[in-house]
Amino acid sequence: MQKLIYVVVGLLLCISCSNDSNHSEENSIWYSNTYILDHGEKMFTDYEPDSVLYSDSARGYNIDAPLNYALLDTTQFRLFNALPYDFKDVAVYCKIDTVEQEFMIAHFDLVPGQYCQVGKIAGIESPTTFTTIQGTELYMDAMKKMDPEHVTFRIICPDPLFEKISRIKQSTHVKFSRYGSGNWGVLSPRDARYYTTMFANMGYLYSSKTFEDAFKNYEGILHNNNGDPIDRDAVYLSMINKPKLNLGVVTGSGIGGLGGGSAFGVRSEYIQKYCTLGNNWPLEVYAHEFSHTIGFGHSSNMTYGNSKGSLVNIVKQVYLEMHNKGDLPFIGDPFAVDTDPFLEKEPIQEETDAYQLKNMKI
Ligand SMILES: [Zn+2]
Repeated sequence: MQKLIYVVVGLLLCISCSNDSNHSEENSIWYSNTYILDHGEKMFTDYEPDSVLYSDSARGYNIDAPLNYALLDTTQFRLFNALPYDFKDVAVYCKIDTVEQEFMIAHFDLVPGQYCQVGKIAGIESPTTFTTIQGTELYMDAMKKMDPEHVTFRIICPDPLFEKISRIKQSTHVKFSRYGSGNWGVLSPRDARYYTTMFANMGYLYSSKTFEDAFKNYEGILHNNNGDPIDRDAVYLSMINKPKLNLGVVTGSGIGGLGGGSAFGVRSEYIQKYCTLGNNWPLEVYAHEFSHTIGFGHSSNMTYGNSKGSLVNIVKQVYLEMHNKGDLPFIGDPFAVDTDPFLEKEPIQEETDAYQLKNMKI
């Protein structure tokens, strides 16, 4: 009988052991695929409630950080991937003011596309041995809490798409807004899904040396609303540092897009067409509306202008060049079911049908 009791106790210990080891994954720095898929949340689904989709804190992000890890509060992190792409082998490094070395605080085997996960930060509750960026061990007592003023995180990931998005300098904060009156329609989760790819590509384009050179060295005159030449260095900075945009969709009859201040929107079909680009028109609308948001009106050729003499033309030329070299984060429709969007590349030609829709107002 006593033997049986030992066996039962032994079994119970085993069970509690295995529970502990599952539990410990929450406090470990290593997150397996299974753990992530069990504990995270798919974003921008068709059933996403308005209170989440239009919430800045839940779905807003900076164009230069579509994949990010940040403090949710002093003991929890939030991992956030705005893009429709599964990143593998994502390591998060942490720098705390009081600790000399940067160390790995989390490693995710997989960060699924358009996904977010909240969890307890490793090392908060118990002493933990971390690995520093130099590969040495770093023992730390339980941290208890983290002060957002004194900590920064940095992601390292070998994925080629991560390498591309790391080159985005445009720091604009984007959030999704409902709108829904006048010429504005109601932005849907589907619009949000596609908008993330548009801003990855356009953020990448505006941040690129190719665009910066094309813009600053453009031989024609780029003029403001009064017809005076613009200060190109200052305007370039205003594009890169545009603080925020509230994204919506435009549905008004005959209206291609709307932009001004922080408001930005194009028609739903352009957001999608834009990724599959056999068509320059959505690009033209994008560049036109974005220039409105940095203060240019219709009397400036930062918005309108003939096809050979305007900012819009520079954007289209650079996009064409980058697209045909495969040098953009997204080429092809990432939501297309039957194709591999990252292999498919249909060359586009200048002015294919750019003015086909010229009667649209923008
Ligand atoms: Zn306009």
